Amino acid sequence: MEKKLKIGIIGAGIQGVCNALFLQKKGYEVTLFDKDEPGNLSASYGNAGHFSPYASIPLNRPDILIDVPAMLLSSSGPLALKWNYVPKMIPWFLKFLKNCSTKNMMHTAKYMHQILDLALPAYDELFDQIDLSGLVENKGIMYIWNDKNLKSRQLEINIRNEIGAEQQLLNQKEIHDLEPNIKKIYHAGVFLQKS
Ligand SMILES: Cc1cc2nc3c(=O)[nH]c(=O)nc-3n(C[C@H](O)[C@H](O)[C@H](O)COP(=O)(O)OP(=O)(O)OC[C@H]3O[C@@H](n4cnc5c(N)ncnc54)[C@H](O)[C@@H]3O)c2cc1C
Repeated sequence: MEKKLKIGIIGAGIQGVCNALFLQKKGYEVTLFDKDEPGNLSASYGNAGHFSPYASIPLNRPDILIDVPAMLLSSSGPLALKWNYVPKMIPWFLKFLKNCSTKNMMHTAKYMHQILDLALPAYDELFDQIDLSGLVENKGIMYIWNDKNLKSRQLEINIRNEIGAEQQLLNQKEIHDLEPNIKKIYHAGVFLQKS
């Protein structure tokens, strides 16, 4: 009799759990290991719960280099550093910088898109086995912005066009038609159906 292959997976976040389920479906015996209670302090516990196959644009991009100094200096900015950790971070930071070139950014975006494009059908395959009524919605996501000269938005739109990610650009009226309750502070937006 053929011996059943046993597989151990370290980490019981969404990655570990999904891999374990797919391997079980293929008939393997799988054990999940985690140093904590599953989902306890992991990223998979505290995220926004949004399936985002469109999110293939990496953080490493040429325009981030211009934004980072202002983010660090602002007390309410999205980036904070422990300054005594900076020396340890330098090797990582140099690699981060290297990947901010347009060429490397596009390389990452292209392959992220290929992987993420498979995410929704893969989730559907798992979801088919459980009752999800009322838990998952497929309504797409809309991003809006109020600065008509925001270069980063244009960069993101161009990248999505280049890698073939589906997107629908929205003008003020279209945003209002989709979400009439948002105050009209916006200039334009983009709707991402696949999410
Ligand atoms: C605030 C926030 C919002 C987010 N919103 C979204 C969103 O809306 N949509 C989206 O798609 N993504 C979102 N993300 C990203 C998403 O949550 C993560 O990419 C995803 O959860 C990562 O899953 P993971 O299984 O790789 O890692 P984790 O969920 O971090 O799981 C890793 C597990 O491995 C365990 N582990 C680590 N080291 C060891 C070890 N040595 N031995 C044993 N166990 C170990 C940890 O305890 C942990 O349980 C968000 C993230 C954050 C932080």
